[in-house]
Amino acid sequence: MPSYTAPVKDMQFILHDVLKVSKSDVPGFDELDADFTGAILEEAGKIAGEVLAPLNAVGDREGCRLENGVVYTPTGFKDAFDKMREGGWTGLDCDPEYGGQGMPHVLATATGEMFTGANMAFTMYQGLTHGAYSAIHAHGTDAQKAKWLPKMVSCEWTGTMNLTEPHCGTDLGLMRTKAEPQENGTYKITGQKIFISAGEHDMSENIVHLVLAKIPGGPDGIKGVSLFIVPKFLVDDEGNVGARNGVSVGNIEEKMGIHGNATCVMNYDAAEGYLLGEEHKGMRAMFTMMNEARLGVGMQGLAVAEAAYQNALEYAKDRLQGRAITGPENKDGPADPIIVHPDIRRALMDQKSFAEGGRAFALWGAEMIDRSHRTGDAEAEGLISLLTPVLKGFLTDQGFDMSVLAQQIYGGHGYIEEHGMSQFARDARIAMIYEGANGVQALDLVGRKLAANGGKPAMAFFDMIKGFCKENAGDEEFDKAFIEPLKSASKHLQEAAMFFMQNGMKNPNHALAGSYDFMHLFGHVCLGLMWTKMALAAKAKLAEGAGDTAFYETKIATGRYYMARRLPATSMHLARITSGADSVMALDAANF
Ligand SMILES: Cc1cc2nc3c(=O)[nH]c(=O)nc-3n(C[C@H](O)[C@H](O)[C@H](O)COP(=O)(O)OP(=O)(O)OC[C@H]3O[C@@H](n4cnc5c(N)ncnc54)[C@H](O)[C@@H]3O)c2cc1C
Repeated sequence: MPSYTAPVKDMQFILHDVLKVSKSDVPGFDELDADFTGAILEEAGKIAGEVLAPLNAVGDREGCRLENGVVYTPTGFKDAFDKMREGGWTGLDCDPEYGGQGMPHVLATATGEMFTGANMAFTMYQGLTHGAYSAIHAHGTDAQKAKWLPKMVSCEWTGTMNLTEPHCGTDLGLMRTKAEPQENGTYKITGQKIFISAGEHDMSENIVHLVLAKIPGGPDGIKGVSLFIVPKFLVDDEGNVGARNGVSVGNIEEKMGIHGNATCVMNYDAAEGYLLGEEHKGMRAMFTMMNEARLGVGMQGLAVAEAAYQNALEYAKDRLQGRAITGPENKDGPADPIIVHPDIRRALMDQKSFAEGGRAFALWGAEMIDRSHRTGDAEAEGLISLLTPVLKGFLTDQGFDMSVLAQQIYGGHGYIEEHGMSQFARDARIAMIYEGANGVQALDLVGRKLAANGGKPAMAFFDMIKGFCKENAGDEEFDKAFIEPLKSASKHLQEAAMFFMQNGMKNPNHALAGSYDFMHLFGHVCLGLMWTKMALAAKAKLAEGAGDTAFYETKIATGRYYMARRLPATSMHLARITSGADSVMALDAANF
């Protein structure tokens, strides 16, 4: 069975040598010195490796079970959930006023990667609760916050997000679930939601559903959607859990992966609900927490890829097949380990350079979220909004590809369930679909984010890369390996944006046909930037004689690989984008 070792050292390197969090001007970051984050990450790593990882295959094999309206989670999940609660892991970055520990989101993103890498399906119960917590925290009245948040922070009550209906997932304006106002100020919610993650289970005393619904008589389409708190059990003003509300699970889905997470059909039959935020402003309320939620899903892509890579690496060192082309390396054995073969090296380097680069990208994104929340920095807010679809779409697409590549290293054994490699690929697949399918992320990036605020965040991003390259140029060898490729990739990104500006107005198909390539082009530029930053930090460490030279030299070598072998993908994406929409749209639907 696969194992998982938390990448504590790598996270410490990113937090302290690259992002330099404890020297940051963001309030609360001064607490994050290396000893403190090291202690937290070590502890989280132990839980991930010792408690959650052993349950990953159990969850996959057993799945969830629906019996008489009750969903039973796989063996061991409930005990592990209690351990997470008792350790305070569920409220790490939550508001201390409601029992949280008030830590920055960047730290919770690091621990979140560990928990997810060890067991994605399990960690989603807490992840969904955090999403619902954030929405109530941002939009609830003081009374709502006092009533719901403390028990959600501790995960005594878990949360869900109910958007999707059978006939609408992306186009939520088509929603049919109704919310009828009552004289006492509550609403009666009626309708059906599908695919609701953690919609019903046996690990918490209550479940707080956040439900999007339409108030009759409101505006048509998406503008008429409001957000409601709908608990499984009603709660009185003293916080006591009382009668069952009119919400029930209709079914749980059989699905490709994340079997340990219950994906539920939820039926609302005149269930009592409470308006969260303003009437008809439900989508706006959802959007305020979207950056965080989408970053969390992007992180899932890289977390699973990291776990798959760790196991593929072990296998590549163990499995004996063939001989190195340059002569036997395992002379006393019948064959060499497959890690000697250049093609296996390529696959491992692709995975390693993605996981480490993606981790830096995700933690940088989390730091931007902290910055915008804790300081109100409009530039950070603009930048994270722009990068959110890239974080979500690029990291999950690549995360899946890398999980498949890890499976490939096992040959036929990767296809056999016993080794657990197929689970990584199956689990990683959903992150490309939910929280806005990746095609829709690309649409959001090109259709909205690129031109948002007069294109200021995009211009700021290009200027930042230009300034960064200028500031760090001067060492010929380093420039050739890092600065020049980064400049060239960034130029491709600007040329693509320019193509959209020049051609998208005439024919919007020219912009949207290139949107997916643009999202990937953008992702590569971000990882190129991250690798250049990491290589610079590693170079500085070596120069100051920090010791552990193998770690820093490996960083630089892995960065060189990314810049030489992965970043050139930007040329291909640019070529596709500038070929426009004609070849994409050439066929009549009837001629496919
Ligand atoms: C395991 C699982 C868990 C989930 N958990 C939750 C949850 O907790 N809560 C919740 O509310 N939902 C959840 N979902 C639902 C998920 O978010 C939706 O499935 C997803 O948003 C896509 O919606 P859809 O399935 O209706 O696809 P559709 O909206 O029908 O889209 C189909 C395809 O068309 C593309 N597409 C749609 N519109 C456009 C457009 N305008 N331009 C270009 N392409 C377009 C999409 O990218 C997609 O590839 C979950 C789904 C699954 C499978």
